[in-house]
Amino acid sequence: MSGRGRSWRRGSSLPDDCLFCKLYREGDHVNATEGFVAIRDINPRAPVHLLVIPQRHVETFKDISAFSSHEAKAMLDFIAETAAHEGLSSYRVAVNCGPDAGQTVYHLHWHILGA
Ligand code: 5GP
Ligand code: ZN
Repeated sequence: MSGRGRSWRRGSSLPDDCLFCKLYREGDHVNATEGFVAIRDINPRAPVHLLVIPQRHVETFKDISAFSSHEAKAMLDFIAETAAHEGLSSYRVAVNCGPDAGQTVYHLHWHILGA
């Protein structure tokens, strides 16, 4: 462990090995702003299925307090702005937190599901 961050736990992937850190850097972004990007889910479960990914590597929603209130507000604003950018008027926003809730990628991300 290199000690570059506080949110990594023993056995977790380091950001260098993290799929969503990689997609943040070099993914096909449908929307982006300082600190946040949106991509299309590779396995869409709705006609429009986007993932909002923060630059900051935080493993799960349980660690939401790693974000400042300014960053957390910016993240929520970006989710709403991305849904509008995609032309969605009705949609669902979801976070799967932990394995029993279906989380498979341990870099916090928000699902936007719409028609
Ligand atoms: P989770 O199950 O952790 O809530 O969500 C992870 C999501 O990432 C899943 O919906 C899955 O389809 C998506 N996903 C996994 N690998 C990739 C990938 O390489 N590219 C993209 N765009 N989405 C991915
Ligand atoms: Zn990451």
